[in-house]
Amino acid sequence: MSRRPYRLGRSLTGLGLFATQPIKKKSRIAEYTGRRLGIDAALKAEKSGNRYLYEVNSKITIDGARHGNIARYFNHSCNPNCDTFIRNKRVFIRTLRNIKPEEELTYDYGRDYLKNVIGLNNCLCSRCRKRRKKHAAELREKRARKKARLASASLKGMASVKGKTKKTKTKKTKSKKTAKKRGGKS
Ligand SMILES: [Zn+2]
Repeated sequence: MSRRPYRLGRSLTGLGLFATQPIKKKSRIAEYTGRRLGIDAALKAEKSGNRYLYEVNSKITIDGARHGNIARYFNHSCNPNCDTFIRNKRVFIRTLRNIKPEEELTYDYGRDYLKNVIGLNNCLCSRCRKRRKKHAAELREKRARKKARLASASLKGMASVKGKTKKTKTKKTKSKKTAKKRGGKS
């Protein structure tokens, strides 16, 4: 068997697989291997927190938690460069496009996994991080605009308060004058 065109390395979520050389689109690069579990054993494994279960069909689930299963190190991405396919009840991983060296190899674990295990807002894939960064920048901008709006409104407010004070002063002066006049008359 030829050497794997990728290596195990540090990723944002722990460990991941990174291409060590260019890999052509539609290359079969790994098999998801492990013990084959029936329905009951699969449910039990899921309940005990095993995150490396791959459901082949309604009857067979592969327990890929063993270290010998290199495919367990593929991380999830919402914008993956690989995907999985099943042939003769075996699970393989293939590339979806040409891959450059040092690119992390990922596949989409599916909506259920994202929702129930990772959490929709906790995904650390490049697409989700970019989306969150953009959203945070937009929020910051929005807040800055609001602050500017409030500042200019309070400046205007201060101007109108000054105007009012002037008017009141004039009134007071007038009333003082009137009082003086009155006082003069009496
Ligand atoms: Zn994501």
